[in-house]
Parts: sequence; C-alpha cells; structure tokens
Amino acid sequence: MTIKNVTVAGGGVLGSQIAFQAAFTGFKVTLYDINDGAIDHAKQLLASYVPEFEDFYDDGDKASAVIDQMSFSTSLAEAVADADLVIEAIPESVKIKVDYYTELSKVAPAKTIFATNSSTFVPSQFVEYVDRPEKFLAIHFANQIWKNNNAEIMGHPGTEDKYLDEVVQFAKDIRMVPFRLYKEQHGYILNSLLVPLLDAAQKLWVNGVSDPETIDKSWMIATGAPQGPFAILDVVGLNTPYNLALAKADTDTQSAEIAKALKAMIDDGKTGAASGEGFYQYPNPAFADPDFLK
Ligand code: NAD
Repeated sequence: MTIKNVTVAGGGVLGSQIAFQAAFTGFKVTLYDINDGAIDHAKQLLASYVPEFEDFYDDGDKASAVIDQMSFSTSLAEAVADADLVIEAIPESVKIKVDYYTELSKVAPAKTIFATNSSTFVPSQFVEYVDRPEKFLAIHFANQIWKNNNAEIMGHPGTEDKYLDEVVQFAKDIRMVPFRLYKEQHGYILNSLLVPLLDAAQKLWVNGVSDPETIDKSWMIATGAPQGPFAILDVVGLNTPYNLALAKADTDTQSAEIAKALKAMIDDGKTGAASGEGFYQYPNPAFADPDFLK
C-alpha cells in the first residue's frame, strides 16, 4: 500500500506541524482534535507556519494554499474513515492515550497504520489497546519539524517490517531524514543521548562544580558543538527540565536541587530563549559571540 491519506490526531504544537508538513508535501491530510476550540487553536498554529515555510523552502510559495487543502474534524470515526496512516500527537498522558487507542481501534478501517509521536512512551505500553499490533509503531518528530527534520521510526516487537518500511518512505516523502531504530528504546536515539547530557550539566551546576557558561564553553571547545547544554536547555524551555527534575526529586537529592534552582529562574521569568532570558539573554546570547570561546 502507498500512504496517501494521513490523519493527525491532536492539533497542538507538534500535531499542527506534522499536519502542515504532510499537507505541504502533497498528502491528503485530516486534522482531528477534541472540540471546535481546539480546532480553532490548531488553525492559528497552522497559519503561523505559512511564513516559516515560505522562507525555508524554495517552493515555499505553496504554503499559503495548504490550510485550505486540509480537512478538520472533531469526530474520530469521521477523521479516520479513509486514513492510510494516523499519527497521534495528543497529550503525553497514559490515560488519554489508552482511551484514544481503544476508541481508534473500534473506528479505524483495517488498512490504517497507527503511529504515535510520543516522546517518552514506547508502543509496547499501548499495544494491548490496539486491535492491529502489526500495524502499530512510533514516528517521532522534533519541534520545528521543517528545520529540525529528523524522524525516528520505531516499532515494538510485534510490528511488521513492511509497515515500518512504509512509514520510513512516508517520512522521506514529507522531507524528513528517517532514522529507523532496530529495537524499542525509551527516548529513541536523540533523547537517549541528550537527556543524560543535560542532566549531567545541571548537576555540575547545582553542585557548584562549575557555572553554565564555563560548562558550555568546555563542551563547545572540546567537541566542536555549536552550542553547549545550557544553550540547549534555553531552547527547550526551562519548564520541561524543571518537570523532569521534580518528578525525580523525592528519590534523588541532586534532582531536588536542580528543580529548586530552575524554579527560582522560572519564578523570575527566565524560562528560556522564547521568553528572552534563560541561562543566556536573547536575541544575542553570549555563546553566539565569536569571542565566547577565546
Ligand atoms: P499539545 O498539548 O501542544 O497538543 C495536544 C493536542 O491534543 C491539543 O490540541 C489537544 O486539544 C489535543 N487533545 C487532547 N486530548 C485529545 C484526545 N483525546 N484526542 C485528540 N486530541 C486530543 O502537545 P504537544 O507538545 O503537541 O505534544 C503532543 C505529543 O507529541 C506528545 O505525545 C509529546 O510527547 C509529543 N512530542 C512533543 C514535542 C514537543 O516539542 N512539543 C516533540 C516531539 C513529540
């Protein structure tokens, strides 16, 4: 089967980007969300990508027509009625995803491949709620999908290769660089590398071993990386590492210290690059200065 009709479930930050990217590259896209307010919000997000795509792609002039080519629905059954592939980008909650996969299994036609864009869960966690385990897998995108165009594709032990192949091809067709994992892994490739790096950097900081700028400089000089871990934390936004540290705070005193330090910054309005200040000040952060590494 060749994938033609794509439904995206959840039109928030990532779902709206996935839907826009797929529609821009010629797929017939339906966006499903829970109510009219959520659809209106998704449409606002979609509209904000038009200038981004116009700037980014040589054929970006097509972007202005994309939203009119898409369909929108608040009925899951209607949204997936002719879907070859459904990509789920709904909140990172086990309960919400379990309810969704239970319902999706009842209403989706037999041909539909089910994919999750979950960042922290793996398909095995939901497979018992899915009526077609062989057609269930993960495709994980990064925020600002058009620029950060990696797509990590990962099955669970019961996923059939041919569906992984089809989704790899789909990822190429929407201009991603696909990375197919050989086995299931929490955090895929990227976050399996990135999360421990960011964690280690924050521990060096809260333990008073060094300070954010010095830690970043050390990493940048030694590896040639364009940014250090604290610059990356600013891009991610400090709320995410704060919530991660808080979740481990009861059992790990260093995580509790990290949560405390990040909370003080967040309370001070320093939530990262999007707010204008985090570990660095924007729009001209010190690490981007050519003299930073001297
Ligand atoms: P978000 O909160 O911005 O959007 C979630 C959307 O899902 C909202 O539009 C909401 O109305 C909708 N929704 C809620 N319940 C629903 C349901 N039962 N059925 C359908 N839609 C429902 O979230 P997000 O940041 O886009 O994250 C969505 C998923 O994508 C998560 O699994 C997350 O781990 C993953 N993800 C996020 C990022 C990121 O940078 N934000 C990156 C990669 C993957």
